[in-house]
Order: sequence, then C-alpha cells, then structure tokens
Amino acid sequence: MDYKKYPAEPYRIKVVETVQMVDLAERERVIQEAGYNTFLIPSEDVYIDLLTDSGTNAMSDSQWAGMMRGDEAYAGSRNFKHLEESVQEIFGFPYLVPTHQGRGAENILSRVAIKPGQYVPGNMYFTTTRYHQEANGGIFVDIIREEAHDAAADLPFKGDIDLAKLEGLIEDKGAENIAYVCLAVTVNLAGGQPVSLGNMKAVRELTNRHGIKVFFDATRCVENAYFIKEREEGYQDKSIGEILLEMFSYADGATMSGKKDCIVNIGGFLALRDEELFLKAKELVVVFEGMPSYGGMAGRDMEAMAIGLREATQFEYIQHRVLQVRYLGELLKEAGVPIVEPVGGHAVFLDARRFCPHLEQEEFPAQSLAAALFIESGVRSMERGIVSAGRNQDTGEHHKPKLETVRLTIPRRVYTYKHMDLVADAVIKLYKHKEDIRPLRFVYEPKQLRFFTARFEPFDK
Ligand SMILES: *Cc1c(COP(=O)(O)O)cnc(C)c1O
Repeated sequence: MDYKKYPAEPYRIKVVETVQMVDLAERERVIQEAGYNTFLIPSEDVYIDLLTDSGTNAMSDSQWAGMMRGDEAYAGSRNFKHLEESVQEIFGFPYLVPTHQGRGAENILSRVAIKPGQYVPGNMYFTTTRYHQEANGGIFVDIIREEAHDAAADLPFKGDIDLAKLEGLIEDKGAENIAYVCLAVTVNLAGGQPVSLGNMKAVRELTNRHGIKVFFDATRCVENAYFIKEREEGYQDKSIGEILLEMFSYADGATMSGKKDCIVNIGGFLALRDEELFLKAKELVVVFEGMPSYGGMAGRDMEAMAIGLREATQFEYIQHRVLQVRYLGELLKEAGVPIVEPVGGHAVFLDARRFCPHLEQEEFPAQSLAAALFIESGVRSMERGIVSAGRNQDTGEHHKPKLETVRLTIPRRVYTYKHMDLVADAVIKLYKHKEDIRPLRFVYEPKQLRFFTARFEPFDK
C-alpha cells in the first residue's frame, strides 16, 4: 500500500472496543433469525459493521472533554450558544434550530415550507427526506443529472442537478407550485456523489430568477467540500472552510444530520437565513423536539457536535476519510467486482445488478447480496435498491430504482486500512461463488420505510 497515495490515520488510538467473528453456523442462524435483513442483526454478532456511517463515529478526546462541560439547564444552555456560533461561522447562516437528528429538521422544514400539492425537486431522493416531503403533501421530482442513475458512468460531479430538468419543471408547473429545491451534498443514494460549486451557483441563479428557495441537505457537506477541492478548477488552494462557506452562500438554509459530518453519535439541526421562516420553525420545534435551545439534544451532545463540526473541517481528517473509502473501492475494482463509480465520500456501493445477474430486481438482489456477505464474513452492509425505494403510494407498485446496490459504509475514525483489506477479501471471495446468492421474497412488509424492519425468506426459482 502506497502511504503517499493513502496517508496513514491522522490520529492515534486511545480507547479500543474488542470485535470478534462468530462462526459460520452461527452466522447462518443469525441471518435467518433476522429475516435476511441486516438491520435486524444484533450488533454483537457483527464482525465489521459497515451498515451505516450514521452515528457510528469515534469521537475525539476534545469531544469527550466537551461532554463533561455539558450545561444541562432546561433553557439557555451555554452549549447551544457554542453550537450556534459554530454553525454561523462554518455555514454562514444566522439562525439555528437544533433537532434530535436530521429527520427532525426535515420534518420541521417540510411543514413550514411545503403547501400540499407543491412540487419538491431534488437531486435524487433520500428515504426520510422524501417521507417528510410527501407526508406534508409535497410531490417529489428527481432532477439529478441522468448519468447519476448509471452505476458505471465515471464523472467527477455525478450529483449535479440537471438544470434543463429544473427549468422544464418550472415552466411546466409554474414557479408558485414549487415549494423549494432540495439539493443534497453529497448524494447518498447515488453513491455519495458530489455536487460542483458551479452547479450550486447555477441552481441559485436559476431559482433566484423565479423566486424559488433552495435548501441543502448538508448531511455530508464536508465530504462534498473535499471533492470540490480535489476536482473543481480554481479550488485547489482554498481551505475546506472557505469552500463550505461558498457552498452555503447559494442556499436559503440547510438540514443537517449531526450523525454524519459532525462526527458525533446523535444530533442534528436546521439552519436558516430567513427570520420569518425561522420564527415558524421555532414554533414547531417546541412541539416536536424540545425547547429552541436544545431541540431534543442534551447540552453535552450539543457541545460534542460544536467541536466535531470544527474537527471535520480539518484537511487531514477529511482527506483520510475520503481516501480510506476510495482505498476499499480500488481493491474491489482491481479484482473486477462491479461497484458504483467513481467511489463517493462515505461508502463503496456494490452494483447488485451486475453482481447477481441471475436475479430479477423483484427478487431483491441487493437485499440477498447483503445477507450473503454477512454469512460469508460477518461484515454487515445495507441494501440500497428496490427495498429501500418502497412503493408508489397511489398505485401500490414497487418504485424500481435503476441503482440496485449494497452499501459498504465506512464509519468515521473507527476502522483501519487493514479492516478495509479484510472487507475487500470477503467481497471478492463471495463474488467467486455469486451464483449461490438466492432470490428473496417478503414475509413481512411494513407500510412506511419498509427497509428498516422488513423480513424475507429465500426461495428456489
Ligand atoms: C442520514 C441522512 C438523513 C437523515 O438524518 P438522520 O440523522 O438519520 O435523521 C438525511 N439525509 C441524508 C442524505 C442522510 O444520509
């Protein structure tokens, strides 16, 4: 391994947590009991946990020290002040509404900014984001550039919005029927693909002309900023902090899941530029989350988030983060395993269509592949395909996304390069006997966000 291409971990380890692999017979029993759904596997039976990078982060010594400075007053906590200052400084938004996690912010934003029947265009959807938009009467429209749906299209900014699609929608439906544009940086379901600053600016100019607001899903904004520094002309000498400020200068506000790029285990917020909207959001936060000075978080959690946000903007941190993910992707690519390219910021996505060509999409190839990988190696991953996409609420048909993927998500500051070697070996071994991956069918299918708790069984075709 080339340590110049892949710099060593920019930290040393102070606390460790033992992991171990349970034996094959046990893994087979565990996945069957879990209904072939990796969300339902008990954590203690998992060896390397790549289910998600959400809330699975390792906090720094400074963040743990900050936890001890938690001011747990019901109102006016000093940690809120610290968080507010950090968000103002890093994002440039004056108003902060803290929430228990990202979806709390999505709920509030959807309620204050969507009128029933309005369209909410976005660069692909995210599960909880779309849920709250639709629950408030919004109609989601996908306006991501077409190539984002093609797992093999290798482009530097595959998360960009297709401006012609956005313009067409505005002409077709009328600006007054568009609630706002939801712009995710990076695009999780497209494979963690970044959006260019050029695109953000163009979206801002277009929406300004029509008086339409733009809200960012800022969940992985620091990863997006790293890609801009790496790939966009004119930004190589800018700091991550400078790039973030320019990014958010093109938005009216942002929802944030602190569990990702704030490097904490729980938390989130809604940040806004407009005072009137902020006052409306503040009225709702008391109903759904808590006082506007804590929003469902303990004082200590807000302190850890304020510190984590600053750490996340350190170049050495984010460089290692993105390159560690890329390293795993390169190992798989070299071995001929089909993955979504280019590798994005938080995860390597296996392309289940090409991995399991013997399975139809309705036989849940990605779900079955994730289960098979657990049996193979004790590595836990997540389906991001037809099961996650859910059903059309009107017709009852499955949404059939073009991307049928298994996500290997890397938690921040948790695993080493050696763990990436081990994961790559497991996937490559499984790829060699991929014909053994069987079709699945539902045993239990929940109505909302079904992927979290659905149960399946394998069958013979
Ligand atoms: C995780 C995530 C959310 C939701 O945040 P939670 O903190 O899990 O509620 C929203 N958008 C994206 C892109 C995410 O990855």
